[in-house]
Amino acid sequence: MDHFQYHGGRLRAEDVPLEDIASEVGTPFYCYSTATLERHYRAFADAFAGMDAMICYAVKANSNIAVIGALAGLGAGADVVSGGELKRALAAGVPPEKIVFSGVGKSEDEIAAALKAGVARINIESDPELDCLNRVAASLGVTASAGIRVNPDVDANTHEKISTGKRGNKFGIEWTRTHEVFIRASAMDAVSLTGVAVHIGSQITDLKPFEEAFVRVRGLAAILRADGHLIDSLDVGGGLGVSYEDGGDVAPSPADYAKTVKSALGDLGCKLIIEPGRAIAGNAGVLVMRVIYVKEGASRTFVIVDAAMNDLLRPALYGARHAIVPAREASSGANWREVDVVGPVCETGDVFAKQMLLPEVKTGDLLAIRTAGAYAAVMGSFYNSRPLAPETLVKGDAFQVVRERISVDDLMARETMPPWLESGG
Ligand SMILES: *Cc1c(COP(=O)(O)O)cnc(C)c1O
Repeated sequence: MDHFQYHGGRLRAEDVPLEDIASEVGTPFYCYSTATLERHYRAFADAFAGMDAMICYAVKANSNIAVIGALAGLGAGADVVSGGELKRALAAGVPPEKIVFSGVGKSEDEIAAALKAGVARINIESDPELDCLNRVAASLGVTASAGIRVNPDVDANTHEKISTGKRGNKFGIEWTRTHEVFIRASAMDAVSLTGVAVHIGSQITDLKPFEEAFVRVRGLAAILRADGHLIDSLDVGGGLGVSYEDGGDVAPSPADYAKTVKSALGDLGCKLIIEPGRAIAGNAGVLVMRVIYVKEGASRTFVIVDAAMNDLLRPALYGARHAIVPAREASSGANWREVDVVGPVCETGDVFAKQMLLPEVKTGDLLAIRTAGAYAAVMGSFYNSRPLAPETLVKGDAFQVVRERISVDDLMARETMPPWLESGG
C-alpha cells in the first residue's frame, strides 16, 4: 500500500496532485511520500517490537537527506556503505550509535571517518580489511566494534546482479573461514569482533533463502561461542522485495519476514540488526514525466517521454519492470493501446516498458512510474548531458523540493579547457 492514489481523477501524492508539482518544478521529477515511508518503517518497527532489535535503514536505496531525516525522526538507524553515505546519515540526524558501516571496499579514510564518528559497528568483508581496521583504530587510539560479514553460499533466487550471498559473489568472507578470522581478530589490540552479519541480496520475494542464511548464522554463532568468543550481535542485512507491477512478484510482509528472523535467531540473546532499504523506500516514490512525442513505428507505437535511463536505470540495468500510470485517471471510455514507453537517450536499452497497455496519451500528458523510491534517483547520472531530476517530498498537503534540478551549467562549471586548447593564446 502506498499514498499515490487517484482523487477526483487526478493522481496525488498524499493530498498533493502530481500535476501541481509538475507545473511548479517541471519534469521529470521524483516525488516521495512521507506517509508511505513512515508506514513502511513502522511495519518493521512493529514486527520487531519487544526484541532487542535495531532497524537500520539502508541508505543506498534512497540517500536524500530529507528521506533519511524523515526515518531518523521515527527512530531509524542507518546502514551505510560509503563515507559519503555516512556523512549524509549524520547530517540527517541519525545518531552514530545507530549507524552500521557495511561494504566490500571501505578505504582507510572511510574507516577513519567512521571510527571518529563513533559508529555502532563496522562489518568487515576481508582479511586485509580487518588488518586495516586494526591499524586505523590503533592509530586513533580507539577500539573498533566490528562484525564479520559472511558469505553463507545461499541462492537468493533474485536477479544475478543483485544476488550477494552466493559463493563466487564478491561480498563477505566465506562462511567456512569465519572461525579462523575470529581467532586472528582476537589477537588484535584495537578490534573487538563480536558480530556476525549476512546480506544475501535484494528484491527477494521468498522467505526460504533468508531462512537458509539465518540458520547458517545460527550455526556459526554456536561454534564461535563454544570456542569462547563473545557474540553479541547478529546483522541479518536487508533484501526483502517489493511489488513492482500488478501480476508481478508479491513480497512477504515485514511481519512474516520478522517471524523468519525470530524463529532462527530470536533466542540467542543477541542484538539483532535489520537493514531494510527497498522495502521501506521502494513504494514511497514515483518518477513523474511528460510525453514528448507519440511515434507510430513500423510495428509498434512508441511513447517518448522526457525521463530516461539516466533518471531511472533499473529497467536498463536489471530488466526491471515498473508500473506506469497516467496522472489523469483514464476515463471509462478510454482507448487502451499497447505501447513501448521510451526515453530520449541514445541507447537501445533506454526503454521503461515494452508492449504495455496504457490509455491513449498525447504530447504534454503526464505519466508516473511507480515504485521509484529505491535504487532510482540515487543511480541518476548526467549521461547524454541531461540534468539530474529534482526530488520532492510530500507530507499531507505540503510539498518541498528536497533536491533541486542539477543543471548542465552546474556540471560544465566544473569542467575546464586546458591552457593549450584555449583560443587566442
Ligand atoms: C544494500 C544493502 C542492504 C539493503 O538491501 P535492500 O534490498 O534494499 O533491503 C542492507 N544491507 C547491506 C549490507 C546492503 O549492502
